[in-house]
Amino acid sequence: MADCILVLDAGTTSTRAMVFAGDGTMEAVAQAELTQHYPRPGWVEHDAGEIWDKTLKCAREVIGEDAARIAAIGITNQRETVVAWDRNSGEPLARAIVWQDRRTADFCASMKADGHEVMVQKRTGLLLDPYFSGTKMRWMLDHDAAVQAAAQNGSLAFGTIESWLVYKLSGGAHISDASNASRSLLLSLDGAQFDGDLCELFGVPPAALPEVVDTHGRLADCDPQWLGAAVPICGLAGDQQSATIGQGCLSFGETKATYGTGAFVLTNKGREIPHSDNRLLGTVLYQENGERTYAIEGACFVAGSLIQYLRDQLNLIGSAAETEELSRSISDSGEVVIVPALAGLGAPHWLPDARGVISGLSFASGRAQIARAALEAMAHQTHDLASAFAADGAPWTHLRIDGGMSANDWMAQDLADILEIEVERPDFIETTALGAAILAAVGCGLHADLETAALTMRSETTTFSPKMDGDVRTSRLARYSKALSAAR
Ligand code: ADP
Repeated sequence: MADCILVLDAGTTSTRAMVFAGDGTMEAVAQAELTQHYPRPGWVEHDAGEIWDKTLKCAREVIGEDAARIAAIGITNQRETVVAWDRNSGEPLARAIVWQDRRTADFCASMKADGHEVMVQKRTGLLLDPYFSGTKMRWMLDHDAAVQAAAQNGSLAFGTIESWLVYKLSGGAHISDASNASRSLLLSLDGAQFDGDLCELFGVPPAALPEVVDTHGRLADCDPQWLGAAVPICGLAGDQQSATIGQGCLSFGETKATYGTGAFVLTNKGREIPHSDNRLLGTVLYQENGERTYAIEGACFVAGSLIQYLRDQLNLIGSAAETEELSRSISDSGEVVIVPALAGLGAPHWLPDARGVISGLSFASGRAQIARAALEAMAHQTHDLASAFAADGAPWTHLRIDGGMSANDWMAQDLADILEIEVERPDFIETTALGAAILAAVGCGLHADLETAALTMRSETTTFSPKMDGDVRTSRLARYSKALSAAR
């Protein structure tokens, strides 16, 4: 009986396949690392052929000979990364340009100088930053002869990673779900398809773009040659939107924060088109029967990478987990404050040239104080985001956390204390993959709707409740605010 979901989770450093039962239990997983290409400083590329080959191999490994039990496929992916391929051959025309790639910074700066950002932000919810897909497409058209030739003869196809995987799996369906499409700078938040005016502004031919579709439903069928059956593809979402769904943030105001290398926060904004006065992003959370639910998003560039820095550069700790024990060994950080602006500051400050600060050092400041200040910095950064979200009309009711760093109980408690809200952590931490499983389970009719699927498939949670003394909290925030001025 077909009662399982195959999830393909095509991330930045690795791609994975997992099988989920209808109750959300993960039954099998296979993973393959992806080669990172760094042809020049600031450039990051992937080989789309490698992503397809390894994803397919992982899928075959977890399914084995038993494709008949797979009811549907759900895909979640690293967002914004652009693939250009030839519709005739089905092969990539160039290396994929990865979301982290900064090569279009000058182009973005010139568009900003020409005064386009206000209109772009109003329509797309995004800012003029190389992060998003549109300027990466334009770069390929301007610089890659194979992409130019394909554009001229009408065989060029552009897509993000979910679009590329669906094209390969289905043998020709060229679609992108609204959550991924909303990261392109080419989709108006209230427009069903890519926007002609925005395509013209960014110089991207609409004919090369995929059709924008729902995040769940019967979206395409897999060619039986790949997995042994024509399994329907019923769920598609960008990784952060997928994690938000996997965390069950399905009502207005519900918020998730993922603490991995960086930190990504999304708040459900319901049917209302988000607009930010605080340089947060508006994005599509999911789309059902053409109707969109939106989210407001903010990201901090540095989260777990600060802990890696303490371990690998400063040799202060032996493992990331050690920060917890060190933090518990003292009653406060002895006024040591860290502003983790090692790669500039993201939302809501957007200061690429800001740099990290360790302030308040005395002869009493040892490893423990610095490790504790590093964990405290997560709550401080998140508090800055919480203020911006509240000012944009999206106050947090409680916070659901995930990502590798969320395993740290001390940090989770500190978040609850500084934010003064309950912080919940699911026991099953793979919320990104779970979100794609939830979407596909609803898309294929295994569950009636997202709420039912999330209730059935989500794991138990651990709750951290605020208990910090108000004066301690106020003085912590005041010290951070002072150190932040130095980082600016
Ligand atoms: P990504 O998906 O971005 O690769 P992960 O979600 O796997 O990241 O999280 C890994 C990050 O979390 C690393 O940067 C690591 O330093 C940090 N991390 C992992 N475990 C802990 C812990 N117990 N305490 C603090 N930081 C941790």
